[in-house]
Amino acid sequence: MKPHPVYAVRGEGCRVWDADGVVRIDCINNFTSQIHGYGHPAIKAAIQEQLELGTAFGMPTESEIELAELLCERIASVETVRFMNSGTEAVMNALKAARAYTGRAKIAKVEGAYHGSYDYSEVSLDPTPENWGGVQPASVAYAAGTPRGVTNDVIVLPFNDPEGARRLIEQHGDELACVLVDPMPNRAGLVPATSDYIRALREASTKVGALLVFDEVITLRIGYHGAQPFWNVEADLTAMGKVIGGGFPVGAVGGRRDVMDVFSPLRGKPALPHGGTFSANPMTMRAGLAAMKLLDREAFARLDAIGDAVRDGMRASLRRHGVPGSVVGCGSLLKVHLTEREVSDYRSALPDTTEAQRLNAFNLSLLNRGVMAASYGLMALSTPMTDSDVAEIVAAMDGAVQDVASLM
Ligand code: PMP
Repeated sequence: MKPHPVYAVRGEGCRVWDADGVVRIDCINNFTSQIHGYGHPAIKAAIQEQLELGTAFGMPTESEIELAELLCERIASVETVRFMNSGTEAVMNALKAARAYTGRAKIAKVEGAYHGSYDYSEVSLDPTPENWGGVQPASVAYAAGTPRGVTNDVIVLPFNDPEGARRLIEQHGDELACVLVDPMPNRAGLVPATSDYIRALREASTKVGALLVFDEVITLRIGYHGAQPFWNVEADLTAMGKVIGGGFPVGAVGGRRDVMDVFSPLRGKPALPHGGTFSANPMTMRAGLAAMKLLDREAFARLDAIGDAVRDGMRASLRRHGVPGSVVGCGSLLKVHLTEREVSDYRSALPDTTEAQRLNAFNLSLLNRGVMAASYGLMALSTPMTDSDVAEIVAAMDGAVQDVASLM
């Protein structure tokens, strides 16, 4: 973090104390995992109880059944669940399951969407106008050392272009194991997918016999039943993470029983063996269960209300100070785009040099006014935030927008 990284020492509620003793309201929340902030008594009690019993066993515990049951009850398309230790692993296992189930190699994903650090899901995470291709996006390696086979096996879909996506899915139909989508992809702008787009992905993947995989690692925090009901869709597989771990490392894959059967060891060697030393460890499971129980309908209604208040406040500040920009997101998530363009996908969200300078100035000013946001403009709100905390956030944002205006 420029110009200086802020080292965290302690968190309580929605606030974090840094190594210099400065206290700030945390709107990063460990990149959206800490939906209840820090030190919630119910989560602490669950962890303390488990700490006395043992932190990890090479055996199942009842705690994993309880969290799995909660997830299956809440997410209509999830019939069975397997746990792992990160969202990266969740997406990776979903893609591997889709390949094992279909016997096909290729996956399709959205340009600019982040799905963790498995090399297939990283393809075209940060392409530039020089290499992103035409209307049909090129498949661009993200990291040095990515084998050519990886980019060959990833079809990159344009976001929010139903016909463009449908055409590509049908074109690669016979070879396609799955279509991977986050319906509100943070790095691609946090603009929600249109319902036409998600419908096109669902219909086209069914038509060609590929699976639809939803990445709900972040979007589980937008509603009691996750994101799928907002788009009136059921995914075949869902990758989960972040909030379901109650502040501990976590990932999970869930979905259709016949697909999840590829992991099953009940009839000899599974089609897709899956293990992990700390997978489903009871510390994570207990903390996750406590956190998910706290995320009841009332908690979601409150998060929606404070999200609206911060988004409205920010929009009013942009108007008041004459700074071009927009605010996107829903529920407890929002993102600020300091551009005149209408933002609809990764390409339109990508800031030019001036816009990037303004965003940096905005973030730095916000930080110095006592509010932390992610460097790329994402903010995630949490349940301990009171009305007065929200007012503090809105006031800090107003000051930061005014600082941006003074640069123009
Ligand atoms: N998918 C999405 C949508 C994410 O935002 C992230 C993490 N930010 C991941 C997957 C990967 O999760 P993890 O960092 O736990 O590996």
